[in-house]
Order: sequence, then structure tokens, then C-alpha cells
Amino acid sequence: MSFDLSDQLSKRRADGLYRTRHVTDGRQGPELVVDGRRMLAFCSNDYLGLAADPRLAEALKRGADRYGVGAGAAHLISGHSRAHHALEEELAAFTGRERALLFSTGYMANLGVISALLGRSDSLLEDRLNHASLIDGGLLSRATFRRYAHADVVALREQLGSARGRCLIATDGVFSMDGDVAPLAELAATAAEHASWLMVDDAHGIGVLGPQGQGSVAAAGLGQDEVPVLMGTLGKALGTAGAFVAGSDALVETLVQHARPYIYTTAMPPAVAEATRAALRIAAEEEWRRERLQGLVQRFRHGAQKIGLKLMESQTPIQPILLGDAATANRWGETLQREGLLVGAIRPPTVPEGAARLRVTLSAAHTVEQVEVLLSVLDEIAAKEGA
Ligand code: PMP
Repeated sequence: MSFDLSDQLSKRRADGLYRTRHVTDGRQGPELVVDGRRMLAFCSNDYLGLAADPRLAEALKRGADRYGVGAGAAHLISGHSRAHHALEEELAAFTGRERALLFSTGYMANLGVISALLGRSDSLLEDRLNHASLIDGGLLSRATFRRYAHADVVALREQLGSARGRCLIATDGVFSMDGDVAPLAELAATAAEHASWLMVDDAHGIGVLGPQGQGSVAAAGLGQDEVPVLMGTLGKALGTAGAFVAGSDALVETLVQHARPYIYTTAMPPAVAEATRAALRIAAEEEWRRERLQGLVQRFRHGAQKIGLKLMESQTPIQPILLGDAATANRWGETLQREGLLVGAIRPPTVPEGAARLRVTLSAAHTVEQVEVLLSVLDEIAAKEGA
């Protein structure tokens, strides 16, 4: 049998689901050179505008001078530098947990945690809209894996009735494609009633929500007892790269012993850990970034509603515009691009069939004028398309 991939690729193109990449130049920020052309971007996760902050770049350079570039090995061999160790201690203090453990990416953290905590005889319950990495972690663990309807604690309770073994409930804190926040207090109460553990992936909440940007869990008034497994990423609001899991000493030790994506991979460069330490201090101290971001979110929502766009129930910087089918989302995305605006068109299978959308994300680095430009182009497209 021949090994021909072209039919599969043609079908993906015909379905309007073909994915392509842009080549960007310049420092991360709202104004990017994309495929050689100056564009205004509303699609990064650089929520606090820290990715190109000179203080992070300085810390990165100092880190490179002190440690060199690569970590050289996995954490358990010789890759765990003083910089990594200090960052873990600072992340534990920032999240109010006993300890924190660094992972090289958020994707790997989710694979590592779930597969380390659960085995064949255990149960995993996940929100249907969880990030792909939480889903893949579930498959890797071989636990009995069920998904409950989005944010539906009643449906979760029913499924918990038949759970066996150790039981983990896993949810995004802020849902990456919808921007809404999980019902964390109800989930925590349900987990406690059923002697289950709650894991929150706060990739989009850390730095953005809660006091000092401690995230969606802190914003809900919950601590380590209610949410024993807290995962956060460093490549979004904190502007660097990598991820962490925070919780009890026993949790972190269990991950060090059993999480294969922790054990068998090279540690992130120590200089990235140094840059992240700087980012964490800035994120906690500069409250104005969260205030400015919230102001832009409200400005965008107000303007978009006036145009008649279909928004979702989100108060976070993730502001999807629901369009329906993939072809419509592609068309809107392409028109925006022609006008010099870069916004992600999100299509199935990333979102459910019929729920294709533009995913507008805002950053404290945007100006009000830039948001106005986006709204005025959206207004023109909506008028033409009859939205
Ligand atoms: N969880 C969620 C909710 C995410 O949105 C992402 C990134 N898209 C990840 C995990 C993965 O994080 P990373 O990019 O660090 O692998």
C-alpha cells in the first residue's frame, strides 16, 4: 500500500480547516510585521504586554551571561539551576501553595500531572471544553475518562456517582476558546463531597485575574485545600515560556518521581527562568496593567455589541465573536487581514461544529485607538455580511 498523504490534505483544505502559519518579524506586541507586512494583531496571549518588556529582556541577558543558554540536561540530572529553584519558590509563594514545580511547556505539565496521578483503575472527569492537553493527558493516563457538559456541575455530580478508584476533576480556569471562567467554587464543593481532587489549568487566568494576578482560583477565594492541583503557564500573561504545577509537598514529590514529561525532558533554559522571575514581580506589582486590560475589554464589548456582533459571556481578555461555520470565520478573518488586522479564526475541531469564531484577544499593550480601529473594520464587515 502506498503512503499517500495528499488526499487527506486535500480534504482538509476542501473542508475549510487547513491550518497555515505566518512568519512574523519584530518584537512581540500589537504591531507586528507579518509575512513582510505591518499588521495590528489581536491574537496573542501576551495579556499584560510583558513579552517584549525591556526588564524581562535584561533579566534574560543576565541569565544567559550567568548560566549560558541551554540547561544542558533534565532537572533530575544536572539541569536544575539556582534560577529554576528560585523561580519555583517564588511561584509557590505567589500562588499560596507549599511548592511549585517547573515544566518546559503547559502541554507537558498537563500530560505529566494527569498521567502521574491516575492509572487504569482510576477516574477522570473533565469539562467538555477543556484544552487539548488536558484531554490528551487523560488518554495517556488510561484512567476511565468522561467529559461533562460545559460548566455543568449537575452533570458532573451524576458522573461522579459511578466513579471508581482515585478520582480527579480537571477544568480550565478560564476557557481558552470561550473566555468564560469555570464555576470553581461549585466544582470545589462537589469535589470535596465526593472525596475527589480538583485540578485547575489556569493558563489564561494567571497574571490576569485575582489579587495581584494570582489567577482564577484566588479570585474565587479558593486555596490549596480546595484546589490541590493548580497548573499555570508562563508563556501567556507572564510573557516568557514554560509552565508550573503548584500544590502540596507530596504532590510535587509525586510529580518528580512519576511525571514522565518532567523526568525525560531538558529543563527550560535557566535564563528563561530568570526572565520569568522578573515577570512575576512586575505582574504582581503593576496593577495598572490589569486595570488597563479590563478597560479595553469593556470598551471592546461595548463597541461590538453596538455593531450587533455575537459575543460570548466573557469578561476576560478572550473575546470570541461567534460566526457559525468555518467558511464564514475564514472569510471574516481574511477580510480583516486585508485591512491589516490579525485575528485568529478558530474552527472545528478546536471548537464544536457550527461554533467557528474569531477569537479576539486583548492586551494591556493595546491602546484604545487600536481597539477602535478593530471595531471600525468589524463594523464595515458586519454591514457587508449582514451580521
Ligand atoms: N492549557 C491551556 C488552557 C492553554 O490555552 C494552553 C496553551 N494554548 C496550554 C494549556 C498549553 O500551554 P503551553 O503553550 O505552555 O504548552
